[in-house]
Formats: sequence, C-alpha cells, structure tokens
Amino acid sequence: TGCLWVVATPIGHRDDISARAIETLRNVSVIAAEDTRHSRPLMLQLNISTPLIALHEHNEREAVAAIVRRLQDGESVALISDAGTPLVSDPGFRLVRAAREAGIRCAPVPGACAAIAALSVAGLPSDRFVFEGFLPPKSAARRSRLQELAGDARTLIFYESSHRVVESLTDMRDVFGGERPGVVARELTKMFETVLGEPLAELVERVTSDPNQQRGEFVILVAGRGEHEDDQLAEGRRVFTILRQELP
Ligand code: SAM
Repeated sequence: TGCLWVVATPIGHRDDISARAIETLRNVSVIAAEDTRHSRPLMLQLNISTPLIALHEHNEREAVAAIVRRLQDGESVALISDAGTPLVSDPGFRLVRAAREAGIRCAPVPGACAAIAALSVAGLPSDRFVFEGFLPPKSAARRSRLQELAGDARTLIFYESSHRVVESLTDMRDVFGGERPGVVARELTKMFETVLGEPLAELVERVTSDPNQQRGEFVILVAGRGEHEDDQLAEGRRVFTILRQELP
C-alpha cells in the first residue's frame, strides 16, 4: 500500500514550507487539496506538477473512499489544506481515520500552524494550553462556550474571522473579566502582522477603535484563570453575564 502524507503549507509567508514538504508534493501520485483553485498557484510557484483532486466538506465521503482505494492500490497521496496544517480547523480527519483503519501508513510532514505560531510569540504561559478553534458564530452560544472555559487555568487559543473579532473579544472581556490578559495575533507571517497583548478590556478598545486591526486573519489567545483571580468575583461575573442575557 501507499502512504498518506499529511503536509503543512504556509499560513502567509510563501517560504514557510519545508524542503521535505516540497519534495513530498512532487513525488506523490496525487495531492488531495481542500480547494484546488486555491492551491494551484502555490503548486505553480513551487514547480510542482502533481495532479490535484478536491477533498472538502461537501464531497468528503466519496472522496475519502476514492483516495483510500488509490492508497490500497499502492499509490502515495499527499493531503494539504488552504493554509497551515491539515485537520487543524480544516478537513482531513475522516480521510486520516479511514486510511488508518485500512492499515495504511499516515505520515506527517509538519510545518506552519497559526495556533502554534501565535502561541510562540504571545508571551502567555505555554506549558499547558487548549486549542478551541472557532467559537460559535452566535453570541448566546459563544458566551456559554466561554463560560465553560472561564475556570480553565490553561492558556486558551481561538481562531477568529475578521467580521467577528470585535464581537468575540467583547464577549471574552465580559465573561473572563477585563483584567484577564489577552493577545490578538493578526496576519502572522504577512505584511501587516501585528501582535497586541493587553488586558482584555484594553484589547477590546484598541481593536474596536482601529478598523485596520479588524482586517485579516486572527488568532486570539487568553491567559488561563490565574490563582490571583478571586473565585467569588469570577462567580459573580458569570452569574451577571447569564442574567444580562435574559434582560431586555
Ligand atoms: N489549518 C490552519 C492552521 O494550521 O493554522 C488553520 C485553518 S482555519 C480554516 C483558518 C483560521 O486560522 C483563520 O480564520 C485564522 O483564525 C487562523 N489563521 C490562519 N492563518 C493565519 C495567519 N497568517 N495569521 C493569523 N491567523 C491565521
């Protein structure tokens, strides 16, 4: 049988791809990509002429079966996503699970990941952290998710899109309290990279008042609940947030 190579691509800067990743993408029979139109320019740039096939949410079931068949026939396949590491808030989990269940070797070719890149420059405790991916888009669901996380002592890492960054930061401030340290890592490895670290109250102000800070791609990090934080205060805040949602 072949091997399923799970290959990281850049999250911004085009040179953030390993020599082994390029070599692998050149040598496999086919590359399964989240969006072939998106990945084609990168392949051209890197002089990779391997055929691309689509693997996204909408065709996952059929695509997985077809790819596993090819792997069983001895072909090697690479999996990539639009940016960074596949499976990290990106498609691929079902393919990897099916391949592993079929006894096919799955091997990582690691590289960029926005969450880890952000953590590496945030200056927040990094010995223990939790990756929460995207929060729910609607405020009520988002706040209840945040409330579940309010007592967690580990650094929290979220992905967020530009049209919800202000709303999410505001909910974080309200649920975790304005004094809790937060970091907004925007456009990492790109031209307008910015990393802002402040207590959440100030961070909300800063991002809300500057439309430029609302553009692009974001990782939001929040310090875990510190020992210094008064339990009663946190509990009061939690109850207040719940009550306020019920008020007109
Ligand atoms: N698989 C990717 C990875 O390894 O990071 C993540 C894919 S997810 C669909 C896209 C989200 O990742 C964006 O909405 C943003 O939250 C984050 N992201 C991706 N690239 C980024 C960058 N250059 N700077 C900041 N955040 C980024």
